[in-house]
Amino acid sequence: MQIDIVTIFPAMVEHALQAGIVGRAIERGTLAVKVHDLRAFTTDRHHVVDDVPYGGGPGMVLKPEPIIRALADIAGGASTRPTVLLTSPQGTLLTQNVAARLSRDARLVILCGRYEGVDDRVRDLVDEEISIGDYVLSGGELPALVIVDSVARHVPGVVGDEQSVVEDSFSRGLLDFPHYTRPAELTIDDRLPGTGARALKVPDVLLSGNHAEIRHWRKREAISRTLQRRPDLLASADLDDEEREILRQLTAGKLE
Ligand code: SAH
Repeated sequence: MQIDIVTIFPAMVEHALQAGIVGRAIERGTLAVKVHDLRAFTTDRHHVVDDVPYGGGPGMVLKPEPIIRALADIAGGASTRPTVLLTSPQGTLLTQNVAARLSRDARLVILCGRYEGVDDRVRDLVDEEISIGDYVLSGGELPALVIVDSVARHVPGVVGDEQSVVEDSFSRGLLDFPHYTRPAELTIDDRLPGTGARALKVPDVLLSGNHAEIRHWRKREAISRTLQRRPDLLASADLDDEEREILRQLTAGKLE
């Protein structure tokens, strides 16, 4: 998969792309990400990318021509037409399902807005606007990184163990079960926040070596967490028979 990002702050994006799972996928060539400096597509001496808004009011607006030139440069001559995304708080809310859908595209272009946003005529060249949440950021760079990371996790070969993506929160409409690692017992000092000195233990079942019981416990934890924290997800969750039975028991227990 190839992703092109257009931004006025390439360094902000490039650095973050080097770390972790995304960084490794780029190194291995499973994922290709190119970052384009919008200023390189200006034609004036001062490389101006913004201008005052028609109609007046505060703030600046990203000019359309450099963005159009960047898109022509990226998409022109490409054998597959890329899907062009515009980061925008007014866009489709990014969810695990949206990330999985976008991961099936061979090429994505992500446009990062700044200031008050981009000249609205740019939307004519955009396939979809994507929002990463109901809050306003100062630019599309962090959203672009969020999009790349969440989309890349669905590209085969990016996450080492594909089962872990399937089990991740939201993948089947459930939150993930809790995870523990060594030591089996953790001593917490009474200077630390909480209720005095205490020992925190890993649930016994995880140390039992009984794989059937562990699997069942994890399903139960995933469902009870979802029920407690995000009951809205359960309506469209993709549950198997065992999980449906666990949910029935947990909801019956709650009503008692
Ligand atoms: N005036 C605009 C916000 C501009 S914020 C409005 O109210 O709709 C500047 C840029 O940051 C946007 O163009 C967009 O690219 C990016 N941005 C801000 N919040 C975002 C969000 N929640 N999701 C995706 N992009 C966002």
